[in-house]
Formats: sequence, structure tokens, C-alpha cells
Amino acid sequence: MSTIIDGKAFSANLRADLAKKVTILKDKHNITPGLAVILVGEDPASQVYVRSKGKQTAEAGMNSYEHKLDESTSQEDLLALIDKLNNDADVHGILVQLPLPKHIDEFTVINAVAAHKDVDGFHLSNVGLLSTGGEGIVPCTPLGSTMLLKDQLGNLSGKKAIVIGRSNIVGKPMLALLLKESCTVTIAHSRTQNLEDECRQADIVVAAVGIPEMVKGDWIKPGATVIDVGINRIEKEDGSTKLVGDVDFGTASEVAGAITPVPGGVGPMTIACLLHNAVQQACRINGIEMDDLA
Ligand code: NDP
Repeated sequence: MSTIIDGKAFSANLRADLAKKVTILKDKHNITPGLAVILVGEDPASQVYVRSKGKQTAEAGMNSYEHKLDESTSQEDLLALIDKLNNDADVHGILVQLPLPKHIDEFTVINAVAAHKDVDGFHLSNVGLLSTGGEGIVPCTPLGSTMLLKDQLGNLSGKKAIVIGRSNIVGKPMLALLLKESCTVTIAHSRTQNLEDECRQADIVVAAVGIPEMVKGDWIKPGATVIDVGINRIEKEDGSTKLVGDVDFGTASEVAGAITPVPGGVGPMTIACLLHNAVQQACRINGIEMDDLA
């Protein structure tokens, strides 16, 4: 059996460390990091995420500002709110919960958030900085996945990695982060030929596809490290539902050296990294070195 990578425990430690940094920021610098979250509409999954983000932000000692807007809110009004938050010195991070209602253009909204407050790391400036090795803001899920990998394996240099999925929010930034760690990276997608064979060559497999339990145990090289980003709700035989990843945990955990479970793997890292990004930006905006807050 493989080592189960405990993202829940890792993220709890990360959040505890951030809470300490927040205390120092308050006591020594009179700064309370502030995170604003904007939710447009009533999407049930988004409501759960926003509640959870607000709760964890407050638990870390930070200020949480929630803006819940009606489904019919115009793009103009949303942009006006973003502009207000961009200019609010108490707000160090702004997150617009996706997806947005159909009448609002996501690209316009994402790029309206000031790049230095874009704690999701989706703004074109931050995408560019990540691709060119600069110091921007890194998207939360790939950042959390990389933290787990480095904690498990130490130096990733020279490892062969495959990222399955090429979305802007997970696959592509994951590719950039693994390259930054000097991995040799393959990025796979729906047109990839012989995906199983590609997978079998990898020391690191990151699955971000959105297809329940697609990656099977016999796709995994013995001893490889598997990061399962997928979150899929499936129906069980008795009619109840459960969460599964994009990796078939049962068979993969018999072959892998280490593997993240779903739930309790990458999922909890995402919010912890959001808080990390907000504290990091509170530091950067005020010219403080985050690592010095110890
Ligand atoms: P997208 O739907 O945006 O992207 C899916 C990617 O998978 C696409 O690049 C697509 O290829 C590729 N793909 C689809 N089918 C196949 C296939 N048969 N073989 C190989 N590749 C395939 O998804 P996201 O990146 O947003 O999310 C991926 C998963 O991660 C989902 O389960 C999502 O719920 C989860 N997720 C989890 C988060 C967390 O906090 N843990 C955060 C974000 C997402 P193509 O480009 O060719 O269409």
C-alpha cells in the first residue's frame, strides 16, 4: 500500500502558521490582512465554497469581506464593486467566485481585479509572471498540489511528471510550477494518444480531468507519486452520493508510492493557499518579507 498524503493535516498546519504570521502583522505592523470574496448568484456549490472561505479567513485572524450580489447584477455594477475594492487599502486580496452568470464576461471581470490583489492568480499579469518565472501570484490549487509534492518528495528536479488536463486554472499553471521545479513535464488532454502509456512513464502524476476514477492502477508506474485534483460527486448503488477523484484510488493506491485521497487531499489545500496568497499580498503591498514573520 502507498503512503496516503494527508492534505487535511498539511493544510491545517499551513493555516496555523499563517495565523501566527497574521498575529505578528497585527502586533508589529498594525496590519490586518483583508480578503474580499464576491459571489454573484445562488449557485449552491459556490455558496458552500464562499462560506468555507469566509470561515477559514476569520479563523486565521484576517478580515473577511463577503459581497453577495443578486444573479441579475449587471457587469457594470460588478466592475464598479471591483474598482472600489481595488482602491480599498484594507483589502489585500479579492476573489470573484466562478462561475459567473452567463451575461457576465469572466475574462473581463478576472482582469478587472488589480493584479496585486488577484489572490486567485488568474489575472493575465500573474499568468505571464508564472510562465516567465517572475514573482506573481500563483493559482491556489496548483500551488497546494506543488506544496504536497515537495513535502512528499523533497527535490523534484529531474523527475518525469505528467499533468492530465490543460485548463487555465489547474493544468497549465501546474505545468509551469513543475517546470519551475525542473521536472520534465508532459501535459495531456482529451486528444492525447496512448494516455495510459504516457502515464506509466511518469514519476509524478497530476490528474485534473473531471472524469470520476479515470486513471487506473495499471496506468501508474510502481512507486510513483499521484496527486488527484479531481472532485466528482457520484451516485452509489443505494442512491446516496460520495465524492471521488479523477484517480481510481482503490487500484492506484496498490501501485503508487504515495497518493492523495479524495476528499482530504488537494481539496483542503486550495483554501489554505488562498489564505497564503492573501497574507503574502498584505506583506508585499506593505514591503514586508513574509518569511521574516516568525
Ligand atoms: P476543465 O473541465 O476545465 O478541464 C479538464 C481538462 O481535462 C481539459 O484540459 C480536458 O482536455 C481534459 N480531459 C477531458 N477528458 C479527457 C480525457 N478523456 N483524457 C485526457 N484529458 C481529458 O476542469 P478543471 O481543470 O477546472 O478541473 C479538473 C478537475 O479538478 C475537476 O474534477 C474539478 O472539480 C477539480 N478541481 C478541484 C479543485 C480543488 O480544489 N481540489 C479546484 C479546481 C478543480 P481538453 O482541453 O482537450 O478539453
